[in-house]
Amino acid sequence: MIIDLRSDTITKPTKGMLDAMLSAKVGDDVYKEDPTVNALEERIAKMFGKKSALFFPTGSMANQAAIKLHTNPGEQVICDKYAHIYNYEGGGASFNSGVSCKLIDGHRGMFAAKQVVESINPPDFYHSPLTSLVAVENTTNKGGGACWDFEEIKKIRTVCDDHDLGYHLDGARLWNALVNTNETALQFGEVFDTISVCLSKGLGCPIGSVLVGDEDIMKGAIRIRKIFGGGMRQVGYLAAAGLYALDHHIDRLKQDHNKAKEIGEVLRSLAQIKTVEPIETNIIIFELNADVNETAFLQNLAKNNIHIIGMGGGKLRIVTHLDYTDTMHEKLLSILTNL
Ligand SMILES: *Cc1c(COP(=O)(O)O)cnc(C)c1O
Repeated sequence: MIIDLRSDTITKPTKGMLDAMLSAKVGDDVYKEDPTVNALEERIAKMFGKKSALFFPTGSMANQAAIKLHTNPGEQVICDKYAHIYNYEGGGASFNSGVSCKLIDGHRGMFAAKQVVESINPPDFYHSPLTSLVAVENTTNKGGGACWDFEEIKKIRTVCDDHDLGYHLDGARLWNALVNTNETALQFGEVFDTISVCLSKGLGCPIGSVLVGDEDIMKGAIRIRKIFGGGMRQVGYLAAAGLYALDHHIDRLKQDHNKAKEIGEVLRSLAQIKTVEPIETNIIIFELNADVNETAFLQNLAKNNIHIIGMGGGKLRIVTHLDYTDTMHEKLLSILTNL
């Protein structure tokens, strides 16, 4: 039994999901003739109370398309120093959109409206890049699955309105936040101009993300997706997995969160571990004591068929997910306890 907790992306489609995929009705989605993709896009648009949604192969492409839609070359995006769009999308913001990032020194990937105000370059000061977009991530990945305070998110909306800035949410794991806080997709749709969500993270799809947004911004999205090479054909087979996941795999995220909390409790009791960051959803980030060798620690776990990853800076990450069973959980807790 291999216990793979490197990421919630390692899941394989369930039998039910595969059945749904096999029976999907499909067409050429580049012509917008795939009924299953159209149904998925309509459903997600409706969930968020938006006019428009578009299916993407990856969350990175959906985020990159959003940045492109909100900015012009030379401009600047405000985001946290931990942001996925800055750290883990291959430098795409500069490559695809010719923009730079103004990094906020936030807390666990989150920041305050006041810090946004301080980061905006005065638009008439032509020496500095023109600020055009604020991007927020919920839950935060590098921040350890932390959930934003919705009041702060709304305050930042006001700042964006006051300064004529776009407002994008990288919601790769927004589902985890919704389950944890009881906020709704509609609430988020009301506040943000564009939102990307992943179907291939906690929801267990093999592929797929959706960018949802207001009609005026989203009208250019299909062209950008084509330019990025993301126009897909009979992709309803994959959209069917997404529809299935929305029906069956959202409420169960609570189980991933509970397991993560239980793992955290055991980690906190271990002598080798210095700190465990607060656990709100399905991500656990912890730090080893200075005298514990990270490579040896990871190898020791690997010998027990447990796989987790290093995040750099002495931090390690565990992510719980759909394919992490109760049996695996019991085994993991007992192995950790006896480390
Ligand atoms: C995983 C992730 C993405 C998108 O990743 P892809 O692998 O390109 O689908 C975007 N933002 C965050 C915060 C993520 O964790």
